[in-house]
Amino acid sequence: MSLRLLPLDCPSCGSALRGEGLDTIFFCGHCGHGAVLEHEGLRLVPSGALLPAPGRSSGEWRPAWLLETEVTVRDRVRAGGRRSDGWRAERVFVIPAFASSLADLTRLARALSQAAGSTAETPRAPIRGGVLALEDAVTLARHLVVGDEVRRSDALASVTVEIALRSSRLVAIPFERTAKGLRCAITGVALRG
Ligand SMILES: [Zn+2]
Repeated sequence: MSLRLLPLDCPSCGSALRGEGLDTIFFCGHCGHGAVLEHEGLRLVPSGALLPAPGRSSGEWRPAWLLETEVTVRDRVRAGGRRSDGWRAERVFVIPAFASSLADLTRLARALSQAAGSTAETPRAPIRGGVLALEDAVTLARHLVVGDEVRRSDALASVTVEIALRSSRLVAIPFERTAKGLRCAITGVALRG
């Protein structure tokens, strides 16, 4: 076993990046660029932020992936064996990239992906705790679509869901700190932990 030490300097401006123990996603507090930690080191990725809803404020920022995708649903088979039409559509997903319970991540991802949020430049504030790899964010997006299909009224026996990734970027999402914990400042979804 060999250990390698990688410099955690912003690949864009050279500033030292700060993260938490297991972070693989970094935002530069100096120039605002986002980067992902890979075997070879840090790789710059497009980044930005989603703004709080009107009347809400951003007390803390957390990382997420914004995915522009084309979703294809086919081979919908109902319990009786009857097939029904699939569909294909362009969809945007916002998938939280910080560690939380799957229930929280799913509720928040579903709400954020339905909210038509406006985007802005990355805030020059600490944005830490990013641990979710891009391919895992795509898997969670697929999980959301499968969940939506299963919830539809007919008794679904099986379905095929494909997600083609058109573009991806890291975004900071705003949270308000309340007595009970964190609440998303875009959707109002509270994290139960
Ligand atoms: Zn930088």
